[in-house]
Amino acid sequence: MSLRIGMVGGSVGGLFAAVLLARQGHRVTVMERARHGLARRGAGLVVQEPVTRILRQVGLPRLAEKGVWAAERIMLDAHGAVTSREASPQMQMSWDLLYDGFRKLLPEHLYLTGATVGEAVPSPDGVQVVLEDGRAFGFDLLIGADGQGSMVRGLVAGNGAEERIRPDYVGYAAWRGLVPEAAMPPDAAGELFGRMAFHNGRGMHALGYLIPGAEGETAVGERRYNWVWYRPLSPEALQDLLAHAGRAGALSLGPGELPADIRASLQADARAQLPPQFAAAVAAQAQPFVQPIYEYETPRMVRQRIALLGDAAFIARPHTAMGVAKAAGDAMALAAALDGRPVDEALAAYERARLPQGRAMVDYGRRLGRSLSMSP
Ligand SMILES: Cc1cc2nc3c(=O)[nH]c(=O)nc-3n(C[C@H](O)[C@H](O)[C@H](O)COP(=O)(O)OP(=O)(O)OC[C@H]3O[C@@H](n4cnc5c(N)ncnc54)[C@H](O)[C@@H]3O)c2cc1C
Repeated sequence: MSLRIGMVGGSVGGLFAAVLLARQGHRVTVMERARHGLARRGAGLVVQEPVTRILRQVGLPRLAEKGVWAAERIMLDAHGAVTSREASPQMQMSWDLLYDGFRKLLPEHLYLTGATVGEAVPSPDGVQVVLEDGRAFGFDLLIGADGQGSMVRGLVAGNGAEERIRPDYVGYAAWRGLVPEAAMPPDAAGELFGRMAFHNGRGMHALGYLIPGAEGETAVGERRYNWVWYRPLSPEALQDLLAHAGRAGALSLGPGELPADIRASLQADARAQLPPQFAAAVAAQAQPFVQPIYEYETPRMVRQRIALLGDAAFIARPHTAMGVAKAAGDAMALAAALDGRPVDEALAAYERARLPQGRAMVDYGRRLGRSLSMSP
């Protein structure tokens, strides 16, 4: 039976599911609020087994081989000396290549951009959706792949569940940067490139590694250095920061949104607290951004004809490096469940398969946060 399926969110989670479901003969419509799609907005990701598997399923196995390798992991002390070294090859793939690869597999007219879902009204056998620009659609099944600030969550959690749909801020934030390879000071580049570097300080954790360029480039000279500095930030200080940046109520601050005075104090703190190689990377970053760390566990993934997928369902701390892999696992499980089964039975099977996985991943992220002496 060919279903009319609405996908809220056209990032990688929504695209994974849309491509698999369209190939099964379902009539899929992806509704993505970003006006021009999401091209060239990502960074790097560690290729986990579910990503390799979904790439194989859709006939793009070579994409997982396009990345930047780090040969070893090193630990730096506050003075920049290497205190441990471990051969542990790991590749960072380009998020943009993954997005572009899947986007090309979906006929253009099935992916609507500038399409913000404003309202969705469920009934026992379908969902009526109204976009903010007034366009309306009827679907047999609606999938919420709308990420960490998901609006579809509210429909799955049910009435009066507001407090259960907001992600929990865990009390620390990742200050981040993506420095063009050529802009890195040579001394720091010499020690940091080609390896994953880490530093553990009192209540803080920093790391850095090379990732592909903005167009997926992997050639020397065209890559980017990705640094991440986890530091405690109280909920009140986070609210003050967002307000100071003119982004009160937002979940994070993107490149270009950090006020100049905060960038200056970030650089001063980096000079005082980080190994000099990392401080140099922070100083080389024209537009640092801030990713407060959130967690979310949905109590259920399905209600009537609505299902959640990816970050809309579960947000684990980024130390797990499994966000994309989890979205791929959800998409494959949903497509497998819907292949030939009645819808309600399929959705129940999907939830049974993926609820425990999502909970386990959130728990794993929490344990990793504790092991890095970050917040509780
Ligand atoms: C631009 C971008 C770049 C990213 N880069 C990386 C990266 O480099 N490495 C990495 O590991 N992870 C990255 N992520 C996060 C990663 O995609 C997720 O952690 C994970 O893969 C789960 O994906 P998702 O599709 O569930 O959620 P997300 O990737 O968060 O996508 C949710 C999508 O839903 C859309 N949306 C939200 N609300 C609505 C609405 N009401 N109507 C219509 N659309 C809506 C958003 O615009 C967004 O595109 C990125 C996410 C985005 C959006």
